Amino acid sequence: MHEWSLAHSVVAALDKFAQENNIRRVVKVVVSLPKLAMLDREIFREAYAELSKGGPLEGSELVIEEEPPRFICRSCGKEFALEQVAPQVAEVWSKYGEENPLHFLPDLAPMFIRCPYCGSENVAASNTEIRIKRVEGI
Ligand SMILES: [Zn+2]
Repeated sequence: MHEWSLAHSVVAALDKFAQENNIRRVVKVVVSLPKLAMLDREIFREAYAELSKGGPLEGSELVIEEEPPRFICRSCGKEFALEQVAPQVAEVWSKYGEENPLHFLPDLAPMFIRCPYCGSENVAASNTEIRIKRVEGI
């Protein structure tokens, strides 16, 4: 399951961060998940709790935020939101199901999305990455 591998990367990065900054115990972590990837928060939470056992992250509070992607058309310069291309995104989901490339690599969004204003395929996306926004520890 993809959520587990992402949680694994997050936990590994945080373990390293704690070690480098002499944090004995991490109390709270705020993570932002890309909305486009439609990750299962509960699975991610479960994986995080399980993978952090025995390390400085054990028992820490995990706050999950969801970051909506932002798109900009390189042809007409207009910006647009996920809602405006919802049917296109839904189409990708129905075509690929569980193997949806957006779930695994939301970075690839521009390959599947056309500008709702001019129809151009030359689209750039941001906020498609998983991010660790804040770490609190002692
Ligand atoms: Zn455009």
